[in-house]
Parts: sequence; C-alpha cells; structure tokens
Amino acid sequence: MEKYLDYIVEQIVTLTNIPSPSGYTHKAIAYLEGILKDLNIKCHVTGKGSLIATIDGLDNTKSRTISAHVDTLGAMVKEIKRNGHIRFDKIGGYMMNSIEGENCVIETLTEKQYSGTILTTKPSIHIHSDAGEIARNQETMEVVLDEKADSKEAVEKLGIEIGDFIFFDPRTKVTESGFIKSRHLDDKASIGILLGIIRYLTENHITPAYQTHFFFSVFEEVGHGAAASVPDNTFEFLVIDMGAPGRGQNSSEYAVCICAKDSHGPYNYEFRKKLTMLCREKNIDYRIDLYPSYGSDANSALRAGHDFKTALIGTGVFASHSYERTHRDGILNTARLIAAYIEA
Ligand SMILES: [Zn+2]
Repeated sequence: MEKYLDYIVEQIVTLTNIPSPSGYTHKAIAYLEGILKDLNIKCHVTGKGSLIATIDGLDNTKSRTISAHVDTLGAMVKEIKRNGHIRFDKIGGYMMNSIEGENCVIETLTEKQYSGTILTTKPSIHIHSDAGEIARNQETMEVVLDEKADSKEAVEKLGIEIGDFIFFDPRTKVTESGFIKSRHLDDKASIGILLGIIRYLTENHITPAYQTHFFFSVFEEVGHGAAASVPDNTFEFLVIDMGAPGRGQNSSEYAVCICAKDSHGPYNYEFRKKLTMLCREKNIDYRIDLYPSYGSDANSALRAGHDFKTALIGTGVFASHSYERTHRDGILNTARLIAAYIEA
C-alpha cells in the first residue's frame, strides 16, 4: 500500500478543494465518478446522490460494503441584512468559534461565486470592548462580502438569494513532517484512502474475497447518509470515518482507529475483533477507542432497518469539525487494514 500513499494524499488535497457541504455534493460525486470510470470500475449514482462502485469477488453470493461520506460541513444564506451583511444557518454540527475569521465563498443559483469573511457582528476590538466576550452563535456571526454592497438591495443585485450555499476555505496544507491540515478531512481523508485502495486492487489485479461495494455517501453530516441504497446482499458494512484523538482518548493521528462504541452504542463485537486481529497479524498500528459524541453512517444504516454487522475505522483526525489535522502514518495504517480486510 505504501506505493499508493502519495496518490492518496494528492487526492485528499484535490477533494478538500471541491466544495461539498451536505446538499451540494454533485460536483464531488462527479469527480469521483470520473476517476472510477477511468479505472473501468462499474458504478452508479443513487436517487439521493450517493455513488456506489462495485468490484466482483471470489465469492459473489454476498457482499461487503465499505463506505465513506463525501459531504462536509458548510452553511447556507439565511437572511440578507439591511447593511448587506449575511446571516447564515449551519449545515452540520460545529462550533461557531471554529469558523470565526475564515474566508468563505457564496455560490448563487447561476453558479456565480462571491468571496467573503465569517466574522462576529462585533469584529473589531478597537470599537467593541466586549468583542472577545460575546457568545459565538448564529445571531452574532455573519458573512461580510468582499463586494461594495452595503445594503440588502445591493446584495440581491449580485444575484445572492436565501438558500445559497456557503463554502468554507479548506486551507489544505501538507507539511514536510507528514501532517495534512485542512477543513473537511472528515471524511475526505477516507475518500482519498478508498480511491487509493481501488487503484491498488485494479493495478495489482487483486480480487476481493467477496463482492465489494464502495459506497460514497452524502447527507452523513445531517444524519441520514447510509439510510438508503446500501446494496441488499451486504453482510458486513465497514464505515471509514475519522478517529477522535484528544484528551482522554486512545485514538491517534498515526494509527488506524477502531471504534468500539460511539454515542449510538457499541459496534458489532465479532466484526471489530476480526479487524483488530488483522492489525495484530499484519503489524498494523491500531488503537481501539470510544467516541463520546459521535455518530456514523453505520447508525443511519441500522436505524433505517438494514440488518448486517457494522464496524467503524479511520485515521485519527485531531480538532475534528474545526481546522482538522491527520498524518500520513494514520492514513497508511488505515489503508493497510482496509486492504487486508478486503482480501481476508
Ligand atoms: Zn465523518
């Protein structure tokens, strides 16, 4: 898998720069579809916009589905204020302070893009003595456009409407020391890993043990990603999503993190054990962990009534849903476990 690490990192850089907040994922999905078609992989887009790619296995009587979500956090225009500033509504769950000072882009229905900055309504300490103390919430934060538009009418004239999507600057950076910093590593790090896995399988003519579906889901950040369209014959559903390192946590940016339990309950014990044993056998650096405030596509699939074993693995992502960071080592360990699983 080492050979594919640079490709994976390149893909993560490209993917984080294609905006795809929940509800606006068609461009990222089209990009993935293009890559899969170039590799001659069968794939199709589902009704709500997910992408499913299939590689036949030695046994095609039942399937494994491996998922990662394409959608990310973002925002939407809620109100154009009298002074031309824009009140917005969150897409997905994040702390408002994590986007303060961030550059953003608003896209109109005719695909015109306007840049702006996300600030509080009291952005200058020279004017507002309580600038640091005011609560950061949807009432106190707004987008200030980089346009000479200081009234509601002027902003409307630009073509900006209620409901337009707002994309955050991902600020993707790859460091010499092997770190990748960006918004939206959740879950584009995993999407990059899956593209690397698919290339690894095809270029090395590796046939999976079972028919394997790669499920690139959308609407995960708003809770219903894998609630529809998981292929019927799936007996194991493996979700690739970030591990959660931090105080009190066992996860690491350098390891594949295996989730035993999140806030929706434990994952399948047998499945988790199988993945852990694969790590031990293959000398893959792994960490088992519990995520206190976390949900995944496994939860949405099970809640929708699917009946299969689920597991969740992924590289550790530090400062999740903020300006996130992971490391090449965690990415490689995750890719190695997925590859071992597919062949087992
Ligand atoms: Zn995620």
